Amino acid sequence: MNRVLITGGAGFLGSHLCEKFISENFEVICMDNFITGSPDNIAHLFGNSRFQFVHHDVTNYIYVEGKVDFVLHFASPASPLDYLKLPIQTLKVGSLGTHKTLGLALAKKATFLLASTSEVYGDPLVHPQSEDYWGNVNPIGVRGVYDEAKRFAEAMTMAYHRYHNLNTRIVRIFNTFGPRMRLCDGRAIPAFITQALNNEPITVFGDGLQTRSVCYVSDLIDGIYKLLLSSENEPVNIGNPDEITILDLAKEIIELTNSKSEIVFKDLPEDDPKVRQPDIDKARSILGWEPRVSRREGLIKTIEDFKKRLKM
Ligand code: NAD
Ligand code: UDP
Repeated sequence: MNRVLITGGAGFLGSHLCEKFISENFEVICMDNFITGSPDNIAHLFGNSRFQFVHHDVTNYIYVEGKVDFVLHFASPASPLDYLKLPIQTLKVGSLGTHKTLGLALAKKATFLLASTSEVYGDPLVHPQSEDYWGNVNPIGVRGVYDEAKRFAEAMTMAYHRYHNLNTRIVRIFNTFGPRMRLCDGRAIPAFITQALNNEPITVFGDGLQTRSVCYVSDLIDGIYKLLLSSENEPVNIGNPDEITILDLAKEIIELTNSKSEIVFKDLPEDDPKVRQPDIDKARSILGWEPRVSRREGLIKTIEDFKKRLKM
């Protein structure tokens, strides 16, 4: 039986990954320190004989007994609000945490997969973003703690691949949403849904004309699984190219929730990317993957989950 270690396994994406690997008959070791995650996300997996939880900060030496076939490094604050509050932890988990998880993968002769991000492209000057674009990142700006940690993590992963011949994967994840995102996580979709369901003002930053392209979580998990089982060592974008302005996204959420909320405009955060859209030709051609769930369908499922958690 294959054994996989998932760091950040009690977070939004990590918990969906734990479920996916359990359903594919893997043994799953979920490692997390709950800095932005929660035991609630994995409570339903406790009691499964193929699921094990280890409370650990992965910036420290990682010890795992027995064999490990795959290491997926997902631990990191991911919401801009979180990494602005936790700048040093974010830099440490992207740098030291990546080093520790790569070291473990090497010792166990495991395949390593890094959760990277569209943020490595920064505020992009090329649109849409393909994997060969090197990005436009402000290293000393407030978002630099996340962007540069992930860029370092990619460089470290490629160094282990080239120097140690480690089998590695890098997924560049574009904005993904779905059930289990924290109600007040601060990212646009959870913020707008919570505000809309409570009939509170919807906080659009700037003029709302900046764009994002949002992917439903089940599509992302499917793409990551396919990438892991492929033989591609260089970065692959996974995301949904369906691009929308943040203002239109807010309006769509108001409509889908039948909300009475009004839109209020707040200051645009520093270095907020003006546009973002993945070029997914590479994922299409080498993984035979593309997203299947529309934004609307995904939002409806996410709103249902938020209603349950808000006890509505
Ligand atoms: P999340 O905050 O829900 O999950 C991150 C998890 O990592 C949390 O459970 C947190 O407690 C854990 N963690 C953080 N530091 C840790 C440490 N030092 N030791 C152990 N555990 C630690 O965020 P998410 O949206 O699920 O993101 C997961 C990963 O995917 C992150 O690496 C993020 O950069 C990447 N990513 C996510 C998105 C997205 O749209 N959701 C986009 C790009 C990249
Ligand atoms: N945003 C917003 N209101 C909010 C939260 C976010 O207008 O309450 C904007 C944010 O400025 C950015 C976009 O929505 O332009 C996406 O933000 P998010 O935090 O979801 O992810 P990012 O892609 O910036 O990492």
